[in-house]
Amino acid sequence: MADRLRFAPDLTTQLEGPNPVQVSQKEAHDWYNSADWKRVRARVLARDKKLCQVCLTRGRTTLANMVHHKLKRIEYPHLAYTESNLVSLCWGCHAKLDHASR
Ligand SMILES: [Zn+2]
Repeated sequence: MADRLRFAPDLTTQLEGPNPVQVSQKEAHDWYNSADWKRVRARVLARDKKLCQVCLTRGRTTLANMVHHKLKRIEYPHLAYTESNLVSLCWGCHAKLDHASR
């Protein structure tokens, strides 16, 4: 259960939003728990050897905690399962990306 929440990165950042955000939160929660996503996610983690790809470019070896959509899933739903649009990241790098895109 704790794992499920951890792999739904957008949930924690949107908890205080109004109703429309909560609806998308539920959608995201369901989506990130789908069998299809878990399958693709596992493939991407294996491809990236479970290492954060951003840390790697900086010479650091950090275990990846999550798989990130380079182009947002909501805006580019047809790329949601495209492995070239997915990258393994650690929480630290993901948080920076997320904030940068807001
Ligand atoms: Zn990292």
